[in-house]
Amino acid sequence: MSPSPPHGPAAGAPGAASRPPGSVPFLLRPLDKVLGRRTADQLAKQGAATVAGLLRLLPRRYDTWGELTDLATLAEGEQATLQAEVVRSAARRTRSGRPPAILEATVTDGSGLMDVVLFGAAGLMSAYAAQLVPGSTVLLSGRVGIRQGRRQLAGPRFQVLTDLDDAEREALLARPVPIYPATDALPSWRVAKAVRTVLDQLGPEDVPDPIPADLRDSEGLIDALTAYRWVHMPEGPSQWKAARARLRHEEALVTQTALAQRRAKHAATRTAVAWPEPEADGSLRAALDDSLPFCLTEGQRRVGDELAAALASATPMQRLLQGDVGSGKTLVALRAMAQVVGGGGQAALLAPTEVLAAQHRDSLAALLGPLAGAGTLESSLLTAPGQVPVPTTALHLLTGSTPAPERRRILAALAGGEPGIIVGTHALLSETVRMPFLGLVVVDEQHRFGVAQRDALRERPGITDPATGQVRTPHLLVMTATPIPRTIAMTVFGDLATSILDELPAGRSPVETFLVPWDRQTWVEGLWRRAASEIAGGGRVYVVCPRIDAGDDAMTVEEAPEPLAAGVGLLDGLAGGAGDGSPARALAAVEDWAERLASEPALGGAGVAALTGRMTSAEKDAAMRSFASGAAPVLVATTVIEVGVDIPEATMMVILDADRFGLSQLHQLRGRVGRGGRPSVCMAVTGAEVGSPAYHRLRAFASTLDGFALAEADLDLRSEGNVLGAAQSGRRSDLDLLRVRRDAALIERARAQAEAIIAADPLLSEHRALAAAIADRLDDEAQAYLERS
Ligand code: ADP
Ligand code: MG
Repeated sequence: MSPSPPHGPAAGAPGAASRPPGSVPFLLRPLDKVLGRRTADQLAKQGAATVAGLLRLLPRRYDTWGELTDLATLAEGEQATLQAEVVRSAARRTRSGRPPAILEATVTDGSGLMDVVLFGAAGLMSAYAAQLVPGSTVLLSGRVGIRQGRRQLAGPRFQVLTDLDDAEREALLARPVPIYPATDALPSWRVAKAVRTVLDQLGPEDVPDPIPADLRDSEGLIDALTAYRWVHMPEGPSQWKAARARLRHEEALVTQTALAQRRAKHAATRTAVAWPEPEADGSLRAALDDSLPFCLTEGQRRVGDELAAALASATPMQRLLQGDVGSGKTLVALRAMAQVVGGGGQAALLAPTEVLAAQHRDSLAALLGPLAGAGTLESSLLTAPGQVPVPTTALHLLTGSTPAPERRRILAALAGGEPGIIVGTHALLSETVRMPFLGLVVVDEQHRFGVAQRDALRERPGITDPATGQVRTPHLLVMTATPIPRTIAMTVFGDLATSILDELPAGRSPVETFLVPWDRQTWVEGLWRRAASEIAGGGRVYVVCPRIDAGDDAMTVEEAPEPLAAGVGLLDGLAGGAGDGSPARALAAVEDWAERLASEPALGGAGVAALTGRMTSAEKDAAMRSFASGAAPVLVATTVIEVGVDIPEATMMVILDADRFGLSQLHQLRGRVGRGGRPSVCMAVTGAEVGSPAYHRLRAFASTLDGFALAEADLDLRSEGNVLGAAQSGRRSDLDLLRVRRDAALIERARAQAEAIIAADPLLSEHRALAAAIADRLDDEAQAYLERS
C-alpha cells in the first residue's frame, strides 16, 4: 500500500536506446525480469507473462474521481473509486507487531459512512493520520469488503485532495482511473502500477506497429505505443476511446490477415479439376433443370451460378453455403454435383447421421427421377473424364449399415472410377473408400461435424492428373442451415467463401409458435387435442424430448455425429442453457412420452412411433417410414430429427422442455414443419420461469421465423467469446476487444485491408510487425482452431 498519487508523473521514455543492442526485444521480456518475481507470478495468473502480455491486460472500465460515489450503493467485492470526506482517523500500534501499526478511519459521502483501514510501519501510519485529518477531502480506490456488518475499504490507495492546488486537483479529477480485473492478491492499483513501470521504460523502438503507417493514416488511428499509453494512462476519456479503437482495429486486422494468408496459401499450393460449366442443353445439369416440377428460386439460381463458376476453376473451391431451413439447399448441391458428374467425375454428399444420409439419398433420387439411371460398371468405362458426358448418374448410399455384398459392389464401382454421386455419413471419409475421380465433396449440416472430420476433408486427395501425376484436391462445399451472422462467418469461417440462400421457395406457409407453460394443465391438454385435429386433417405431429429415457441425463449429444461426438455445434451446443430456469421436475424422455401418448385419450389411439439415436438403423428406418406414410402420425423423438428431415405432411412440432435447447436448435426443430402448403404450428412446452434467461430465449424464438435474426439474438443473449471459440482455444484475450456484433463494419473493412496486404505481399516480408503479431497473438492453439474452422 502506498499513498502515491493515483497517477505517476508523465513518463519520460528512455526506451530502446538505453538498452544494449541485440538483447531480447523488450516486449518479449518475461515480467519477472522487469517487475520482480512476486508481482510477475501474480500477473501470470491473469495471463500476462511478458511485457506485451501485460500491455494487453486492458482495464475493464474507467472510473472517474469527479463523480461522487453514493456509498450506500457499493456492494461487497466491488472495485470502488470514490471521493469522500474524512470523519475521523487514528493510528495505533498493534499488539502482535504484524503489521506493526494500523490506521483506522471513517469517511462519509454526506449520507452514508464507510470504514477505511491501512496497515504498515508505525511512523508511516501516524504520517497518514496527519494527512487524513477530519474534514479533509480524500480520493480512495480499493475493493469494498464487509467487516462486522459495515462496509470497509482495506488497504486502498488514497490521495488527499485538500493538499493539491486548484489546477492539480482539476487535472486529477478529470483523469479516468483504469480499473483492471483484480484479485485479492493483486488489486487493480497494483496492476496499474506494474503497467506504469513497464510503460515508463518503453520507447517507440520497442513497439513495432502491426498496422502499416499508410493504413493508420487513412483510418485516422494512433500508433501502437501511444495506444498503450492512452489505454492504460489516459488523461481523459477521448484518449482511452481512441486507444481502444486503434487496438480493436489491430485485432481485426491481425485476425483477418491470418485468414487471408491462409486462403492465399491454400489457393496457391493446391489445384482442383476444373469442371466446365454445363452446356445449356445436353448436359446432366440441364437435363435435371428441365425435369424439375418447380422453378428455381432466385437465390438458388444465383448461388447455382456462383458454384458453377467456382467449379469451372482449377482453384479448389472452399465455400460455405448458408440457407435457412427449407431454403432448398439440397437442390443447389445436386446441381453442383451434376456439373461434376456430367464432366465424368465423382461427387460425395456427406450427412451427419445415417437417418439424414438415407433421407438425402431418397430426396436426391426423387429430384433426379430417371436421371439416376446409370450405375453399372460397364457404363462408367465409357465415360472417363473429359469424354462426352452421359446425362444420367449413378446414385449410391453407403453407411455403416449397408449390407456387405452391396457395400463391396459400391466400393468396386467407386474404385473403378464410375462417375456418380455417393451419399453417406462422414464414415465415408475415414474408411478406405477409393474415389479416384472425386471432384466435389458436399458436407451437409456442417455444424454437426467435428473438427477432425473437417480436417480430413481438407486433406482428402482427389484426382491424380495422369500427365503430371499431381494430386488434385476436390472442391468443397459446406452447407449449413444454422444461419451464421456475417461477421462470424468472416471470423470463424474466414477461410471459406460464403454463399447465401436467403429466400424460401414459394408456397411455404408460416409456422405459428406458442409457448406453453407446463403448469397450465389445460393448455397442455389442449395441445394434444390440437394434435388430434392436425392428424384428422392428414397432418403429422413431431414430439421432441431432451432425453431418451429417465436414466439418460445427458442432453442428447449421442445424437450428434457418430462416432466422434466432438463436434461442437457452432451456435448450438453452447446455448442449450443447462440448468438455467430448469424445473426440478424430471425432463421429458422419449420412451416415457411415446408410451403416454399411445394411451392419451385426446389422441384417440393414433399410431405413435419413437425415434432415437440409440436405435439400430433398421429400426430408425422403420420409424421414419411409418411416420411418413401416416401409419404412425405421431413421432416422439430426440433431436435426431433436428436437421434435414423432410416430411412435407408434418404440420405440428411439439417441443417438450423447450428451454433445454439452444435457439438455433429450436429453429431447426421448427423447420421440420411448414414444409408443405398447409399452415403449421410449433408448441414450445416449458417450465422456465418468466424472466429467466431461458424464458427470454424462448420468447425470442416465438417472436420470429427468421433464422438470421434468431442467430443474432442468440449472440446478444450470451457471451460472444464462446462463439468465437475462445473457450476451445483456452485463451482469454483473443478477440477481447472485438465484438462481432458491434464491430461488424470494422471486421468487414479489416478483411478488405488484409486481402490487399496479402495480395501485395503474400509472405508479409514488408510487414514484419504484422507477421509477428499473427504469430504471437494466434499462438499454436488458436491458429489451429482457425485452421480447422
Ligand atoms: P434445406 O435447405 O432445409 O435442406 P431442402 O433442400 O430439404 O431444404 O428443401 C426443402 C423442400 O423444398 C424439399 O422438399 C425440396 O424438394 C423443396 N424445394 C427445393 N427447391 C424448391 C423450389 N425452387 N420450389 C419449390 N420447392 C422446392
Ligand atoms: Mg437440408
